[in-house]
Formats: sequence, C-alpha cells, structure tokens
Amino acid sequence: MTVPPSLSQILKNEAARLGFHLAGITTPEPPAHLDVYQSWLAEGHHADMAWMSSDRACQRRADPRLVLPECRSILTLGIAYSRPLPASDSANGRIAAYAWGDDYHDLLPLRIKALVAFLEKQVGHTVPNRWYTDTGPILERELAQRAGLGWIGKNSLLINPEIGSYFILAEIFLGIDLPPDPPFTSDRCGTCTRCIDACPTDAILPNRTVDSNRCLSYLTIERKDALPLEYRRSIGDWLFGCDICQQVCPWNQKDAPPQVDPAFAPRQGLPVADLAAELSLSPQEFNRKFKGSPVKRAKRRGYLRNVAVVLGNLQDVASLPALIGALTDIEPLVRAHAAWALAQIGGVAAQTALQNRASLETDLDVLKEIHAALSALSV
Ligand code: SF4
Ligand code: SF4
Repeated sequence: MTVPPSLSQILKNEAARLGFHLAGITTPEPPAHLDVYQSWLAEGHHADMAWMSSDRACQRRADPRLVLPECRSILTLGIAYSRPLPASDSANGRIAAYAWGDDYHDLLPLRIKALVAFLEKQVGHTVPNRWYTDTGPILERELAQRAGLGWIGKNSLLINPEIGSYFILAEIFLGIDLPPDPPFTSDRCGTCTRCIDACPTDAILPNRTVDSNRCLSYLTIERKDALPLEYRRSIGDWLFGCDICQQVCPWNQKDAPPQVDPAFAPRQGLPVADLAAELSLSPQEFNRKFKGSPVKRAKRRGYLRNVAVVLGNLQDVASLPALIGALTDIEPLVRAHAAWALAQIGGVAAQTALQNRASLETDLDVLKEIHAALSALSV
C-alpha cells in the first residue's frame, strides 16, 4: 500500500519546486545557545550594528513566540547561490559570491509568499505566519541546525554536508503544527582549522562566532565611515564582502555544486573589468549599475571607499590618475581613502596631487588623511 505524502513532505516538495535546496522543520522553542549570542553582544563583537542589540530584538531572539504568538512550527529554508573559485584562482577586485546577482532580499519574498499561499490552499484556511530572510531578530543558524539543515561550522556559518555553506537562509514561522525534523547534531569540522588559519584579520573566534569589528564583510559592507587603518591592507582586493572562510572550507570543494538560480549569476559588469574607472561613477551611474544588487547596501560612498582601498593595495601606477581625480570627489569619505591609496602607490605625481589638494581641502578628516599620506611618502 502506498502511504500518501505527509503535509510536511508536500510542503518541502513545493519548496524544492520553488527553487529552495534545503527545507526542514523545527519547533518554536527558545534557542538553546542564546547565551553565546548574548556574550557576543556583551563583548561588542557586533561593532556598531546597534539594531542587533536593541532590547526588543534581544527579547524576540530569546523566544520565537514573541515574533508570532500563534507560532507552532518553523519552516527553515536554504537556497544556494553561485560558488566562487578557490581563493587562489580569484580575480582582482572581488565581490562576495552572494552579491554577484540579484539581491536575495528582493528575490526570496515572492517565493516565500508563494509557499505560504500553497500551504493555505492545502489546509483550506489561512495560516498565521511571519517570515524572514536575514531580516529579523531571530537566531536563524541555530533554528536551521535544529531543523536538520546542517551544523554551525568554526567559521560561524551553517554548513550542509551536501551543498556546503554557499546558501542563504530563510525562515517561515507558522501557526500550524508540523512534525519537527531531527536536529543536525554532529560536528563535521573535526580537527580542521582552515577557515581560522586563512582569515586575514583573525576575526574568527574560538566559539564559532566572528568579531565583526575585524571581519572584512562587516568592514566593506556594513561599516559606514572610515575603514580602520589597521585593516586596510588586510582588505586586499575585496571590494564588497569576503568569501575566504568559505573558499577554503573542504565542504565547499565538492565536485558538483548545486544548480543555482540564474538570478544569482553574475550581473552585467561583474566582475569589474576596470576598477579605476569605478571611481568616476556618478551617484546616478552607481544607482543604475547596482539597482537590485546587494552591493547597493554599501551606497556609493562606501563602495568607492572600498574601490580606493583596493586600488591602493594593488599598487598599480595605472590607477594614479583615477585616484588623483577622486581627491575631488563629492564625498569626503572617498577623498580620504583616495589619499591613503595614493600613499600606497607613491611617486612624484601622487605626492604633488596630495600637496595641491591639501591647500584646498576643508574637511578635517580628509585633511588628516592627506597629511598622513604625505608623511608616509616623505619617509
Ligand atoms: Fe575572516 Fe573574511 Fe570570514 Fe570575515 S568573511 S571571518 S574576514 S575570512
Ligand atoms: Fe569547519 Fe574547516 Fe570548514 Fe572551518 S574550514 S568551517 S573548520 S570544515
């Protein structure tokens, strides 16, 4: 006798049809490892991302039922994005792989809403629900681990034994009983420490969390002001985000990566062919180029700041004219980092341009960077 598929299985099949590679169900019980997150906050490892530490957000993280009082099950989902080449084969001017294509914040809500509508059609009534995709105060990796999707690796990311860690999580809190899947209890990192060894800023902490203050993903995406001097060289050629601790992970090096939605394929203009030319992007051109892309989160000022730092690190004299031009950018943040980059490349043209700008510049932070650059060049 054929057993008809359960509602959970029907729902997971539909999730797969909608493009999700992983789906698992857990309960709305409070997370068991909340204390790890609380210590992470208490130690300031969230940097200046104040929304993470608000009282309301902390209360909700502690009890998923505060997110949705009717919640009886949580469906956790994973959708894979493009897998980059191993670190050693990457081109200059890198963008984290999740940001090569369309923004998942735009892409996933439609599919999540379609999945909820499908569920409601199956049960014949509306189902209270609330969903997130990296957008709410929940411990999504712990929920996903509890729903059987994978384990939290030493690099702090969720790793699935079949598809690795290049995937985005989403969660749907549902006011309906669905049987929970068994949690993923094994730790398959074993004695490996590749991610810890490869991190350029030693940002990975011993308790499977990351210190955002040092992490290139935070620095190049979330940080809005000047990049700390101590990390500028470590940024290397990362324009937006960082994939190093995923690129070195053996679980991401299987022969057959999952088939990825075309929306995550690199958009036109990526990878950036002429990095120096990015410095002349007007606000309108930046908006046009990165419309619908995760890169827009850095805003023009943050992106051009990063471009200047990467050009400084690449030390190619061919980028001198563009960097000299950026000394007059409308954004002080860009002017300041262009000054730093010019000092990394050096030479008479860089020194003259900095001296000329010093006599015209009125922003005190930029002037400080220009004087520091001139001092570095005079040594
Ligand atoms: Fe380190 Fe980069 Fe991983 Fe951040 S994303 S922890 S900087 S390797
Ligand atoms: Fe775990 Fe090694 Fe992957 Fe780091 S690189 S997450 S230690 S398996």
